[in-house]
Order: sequence, then C-alpha cells, then structure tokens
Amino acid sequence: MSHAPKRFDFSVPVRIHLSSDTQTKPTPGMKEAMMRAEVGDEQAGSDPSVWELCDRVAALLGKEAAMFLPSGTMCNQVALATHCRPGDEILAHEDAHIQGTEGGGPGAIAGVMVKGLAGARGVYSAETLEEAIRPVSRYSPPQTLVEVEQTANKGGGTCWSVEGLDAVAEVAHRHGMVVHMDGARLLNAAVALDRSAAEISKNCDSVWLDFTKGLGAPLGAVLAGSSDFIGEAWRWKQRLGGSMRQGGMNAAACTYALDHHVEKLAEDHVNAAALARGMGAIPGIAVEDPETNLVFFDTKGTGMTAAAFAAKLRGLGVSVSVSDTWRARACLHLDVTAAMVDEAVAIMRAAAAAG
Ligand SMILES: *Cc1c(COP(=O)(O)O)cnc(C)c1O
Repeated sequence: MSHAPKRFDFSVPVRIHLSSDTQTKPTPGMKEAMMRAEVGDEQAGSDPSVWELCDRVAALLGKEAAMFLPSGTMCNQVALATHCRPGDEILAHEDAHIQGTEGGGPGAIAGVMVKGLAGARGVYSAETLEEAIRPVSRYSPPQTLVEVEQTANKGGGTCWSVEGLDAVAEVAHRHGMVVHMDGARLLNAAVALDRSAAEISKNCDSVWLDFTKGLGAPLGAVLAGSSDFIGEAWRWKQRLGGSMRQGGMNAAACTYALDHHVEKLAEDHVNAAALARGMGAIPGIAVEDPETNLVFFDTKGTGMTAAAFAAKLRGLGVSVSVSDTWRARACLHLDVTAAMVDEAVAIMRAAAAAG
C-alpha cells in the first residue's frame, strides 16, 4: 500500500485555498529576507540566522533556550523522546494531533503510550486529568508527561484559557509530570486571548511554535524549554535527522514572519468569523463558532458527506479539508483576503444547493 500523497490535480486550479493554513506561499518580502540571510552550518552552531531566530523565540516564550527544527511534528517527537522513556504513558486530549496525526510517532520513536482524555472542543479539565492519574505501582506504566494543544486544532481552533492551563499544569507538576505544549497555533491563541505567548506557556516545560501555519514560512518550527532540556534534545534532533546545514535561509523566513505576519493573525480571526457568519446562512450547513482561524462545519444537512462536499467545492476552485464523515474544515490565513471570503461563501452556497 502506498502512503504517498495523491498527486494534486493541477488542471483544476484552486483560487481560494481554505484546506489548511499551511497553504500560504512565501511572500516577495520573505523571499528577499531568505536571499539576504547570513548562513553557516546549523548543526555545527555556526549559522547566525538560526541562532537569531532561536534567541527571538526563546525570549518570546519566556524560556532559556530554543532549537530550530524542520517541522512541528519533529518538535513534538523530539520533546516526547527527550522527556520520556520507552514504556511511559503520556496524557493528551483524545483528539490531539500527537495522537491521531503523527503516524504513530509517540509509539514508534519515544516508545510511549498515549492515554486520551475527553473534553469538549479539544480541551480537558484539571479534574479530568487528575482522575486519569493512577497510583504509582509496578503494574502500571509510569505517567510522565501531560500534553496540551494550543489552539486545539480538531477541537475547532479553540483556545485553552490561561487559567485552565495553569490548573492542568498544577496537577501535572504535583504528580511529578512535565507539561509539553503543542503550540502549532500558540500565537493565534495569544492574539485571540490578548495574552502574551510567554504568559500562556509559562507553566509548560517545553513548548513550540510552527512557522508554516498562519505565519506563512515555507519550513520550520522552534522548540523551546530550559537549557538542560534543549541541550538534551539536541541528541534527538541529530538522531532523527533534524540537524540542518545552511538552515539560516529558512530561519530568516521565520524571523521575517515574526516581524511581519503576527499582526495578520488578528485579521485571519476576523475573516474566520465572517466566513462562519456567511456559511451559517447556507441551508444544510451547520457551522461551529470559530475562536481563531479555523472554521469547522457539518455538511449532513446538504445530503453530502464532507468528502463529497469538498470534492464539489474543489471543482469550483475552493479547497477545504475533510475532518471526518460529516465534518470539514476551512482555514483562514495570510493568503486569504476578506473579498475571497465573500467569494468562497457564494461558491459554497452554490455547491450546497447543487447537492
Ligand atoms: C500542523 C500541526 C502539527 C504538526 O506541524 P507540522 O509542522 O505540520 O509538522 C502539530 N500539531 C498541530 C496542532 C498542528 O496543527
């Protein structure tokens, strides 16, 4: 069985990419920053642009140190492998990216098991966490890490409140566990909550930011934590092939995104609200209220599965992603304007009626 992605049908152009906030293309300004970047050998510590990015992100997240990695998935896997030992159990929301979307990485790489916690919209409570903690015994796996996803992707791009995070971290730390934050969209949460990223993640022992989502860089994520943690994590970065050479070209794109694209996130949230309002008026479509840049919706009322509706939209030049049988997702990002949102709503209305 091939696991390769199906080749995109380039003969049917997509004019409005809502399938993911990873669909952003580097802007001319970003490409220029990449071309101007001073580079060296990242894994030998001689790439100044990578150090600059890591220092920026460490400061932004209020952590001692940071490392540049090719992807958010690798940030999660390096963090788990560094914090845990094979046979450990980690606790995460049952819909977490780490659980369902990373190819079984926690089991394959860190050798840990994931215990899924329930909770509305991708967020679980401190009580739910406390109830999932077993008494220490040689019969049960050591529970060593608690994972939170900010924003909760499958939960609907929902934000953990600072208070909710603090309560979960208090339980985790009281039981001797570390807290790891999948911060793929942490800056979206910071904008939506109007709290700093450092404040949101202050009780997290490790946390990372993705630069390929709404921030619009072509590649890269940065994992942050204590100097000891990052120092230890370097072995896993090396082991997984995540050490780079002239990584500075990509780091420069990420630094550019911090300087120029964070402000656009607020606009994405406004556009998401507008899209949800527009879609909410389409017969047969049930929209979940967005908190950030992700708009999830149910297609059941149109008589079409999410996949059938997505295929119909794709033929009309709009892409959305399929979450499950009836649930689909539209993402707002740098390359989607307010005018494109209006156009997308009109196209969705036509597609829903044609069902
Ligand atoms: C996209 C995503 C990841 C993985 O990031 P990549 O850079 O695509 O590897 C992890 N967690 C969440 C919540 C994500 O949305």
